[in-house]
Amino acid sequence: MTAVHSPGVPRIEDGELVSTNPATGAEAGRFAVATPDDVARAVERGREAGLWWAGLGFSGRKERLLRWRALLAHEITTLAELSNKEGGKPVAEAIVEAVSAIEHIDWAARNARRVLGPRRMRSRLVLAEFSAHLEYQPYGVIGVIGPWNYPVLTPVGSIAYALAAGNAVVFKPSEYTPTVGQWLVDSFARVVPEQPVFQAVHGLGDVGAALCRSGVGKVAFTGSTATAKKVMAACAESLTPVLLEAGGKDAMIVDADADLDKAAEACVWGGLTNAGQTCIGIERVYAVEPVYDAFVAKVVERAGKLTVGAGEGADLGPITMPSQIEIIRRHIDDAIARGGRAVLGGPEAVQPPYVKPTVLVDVPEDSAAVREETFGPTLTITRVRDADDAVARANAVPYGLGGSVFGRQRAVAIARKLRSGMSAVNSTLTFVGMSTLPFGGVGDSGFGRIHGDDGLREFGRSKAVTRRRGPSLLPAMTFERTPAQVDRIVKVIKLMYGRGN
Ligand code: NDP
Repeated sequence: MTAVHSPGVPRIEDGELVSTNPATGAEAGRFAVATPDDVARAVERGREAGLWWAGLGFSGRKERLLRWRALLAHEITTLAELSNKEGGKPVAEAIVEAVSAIEHIDWAARNARRVLGPRRMRSRLVLAEFSAHLEYQPYGVIGVIGPWNYPVLTPVGSIAYALAAGNAVVFKPSEYTPTVGQWLVDSFARVVPEQPVFQAVHGLGDVGAALCRSGVGKVAFTGSTATAKKVMAACAESLTPVLLEAGGKDAMIVDADADLDKAAEACVWGGLTNAGQTCIGIERVYAVEPVYDAFVAKVVERAGKLTVGAGEGADLGPITMPSQIEIIRRHIDDAIARGGRAVLGGPEAVQPPYVKPTVLVDVPEDSAAVREETFGPTLTITRVRDADDAVARANAVPYGLGGSVFGRQRAVAIARKLRSGMSAVNSTLTFVGMSTLPFGGVGDSGFGRIHGDDGLREFGRSKAVTRRRGPSLLPAMTFERTPAQVDRIVKVIKLMYGRGN
């Protein structure tokens, strides 16, 4: 009997993970599934390789990481085509994704020494006879677990920073995008052939779980909130530290003085890019009363022009994970059953493996389409009294990843009030490509930061050293202090800190 396989659903065949294109079902790649022993061996190899890599120092690593960056830049189209072949993402969108990844490799390589390297800290008067020194040392091996929706940018946001900090990496790509993950590993091995500094292990969720229990120094996870909780529970068994980049339900606020054309353009891209399968994608919009009608009309006009399909130049590709289609369908149906209206798309927009752009209005705030991650090309647009009303509603979900504000006078103040790790003013999603800025969420969106200085520090343990540089005038940390010296310590401390009560 021939097994019937759904396009896009990865399957295990003779011990191999087979990934297929969600639109055509064509095979994209197959890889041996790692057993827990394989994972342990990869981590062991990584430990050795990590010592060698750390020994190269910041400049040796920078030089190699910049060569990797150059290779990715040269082969950006190949990588984007592979992403299209495996996940269905339109090539142009895959290129935009890879550009950000390349930028992060460059920045991490160039800034690791400044952020993590040894430096002298200031001493305090009470311990003036000691000098203070700080550096951030690598963990050894970092386990990176990645999702399928941005199979290049999301893992590279951890991998580049972990490598720049002097760690080896064992990467478990999503079962939906192992080919892209392996390509990243192979491309790195072309510029660093000496040691397996960056390896991949393939398989389903249990391989990720094995990585959590493998004794890696830290786990950097990107994926859903539900899996993030499992990862944290598995890591808790061995007190392995975790960085969790989880789901989102990002909101955009349109204030009365916003440029509505720009806002609509950004909303349509921010909400529908990658067919809405974006952790920081705009899923909810709150537009203030005076501009609401005009804004909705502009969004509908733009979103209605987008093309959907697997063909070259389509704006939106297929839904990568077939099971997500039922979630998108449920959110649309529920919104409409509860009094919402589809001003574009609607239930008939769900045509597996595609979902056409859908804009929903008058959707109750407690419906799934407003509160849960939809991960599809849908937007709810809600009329609000004013910006404060918009902020209150935007902040009323357990997620808190990114967000966007369009407006002039109050836009930055509104952005600062959003309960999220990042906000974009008069644009959407732009913070993810800004390598100088940290990226990460609050609440159900996780904790810890990738990108920027904070992102580098996630992958180094602080190492503090004090060094005596002279005799102690007031010896405190010794049994050999005299009562007179203790009296003097008391006097000095009263003088220094005793005022102001
Ligand atoms: P999942 O949580 O399903 O999977 C993420 C990764 O975890 C995959 O590699 C998966 O493997 C692996 N995994 C599954 N089960 C376990 C387990 N028990 N222990 C360890 N690892 C496990 O997420 P998706 O891949 O579906 O990605 C979409 C989600 O990612 C969305 O919620 C999205 O918002 C979020 N995301 C967050 C980002 C952020 O930066 N905050 C960025 C991008 C996406 P397998 O695929 O084999 O099951």
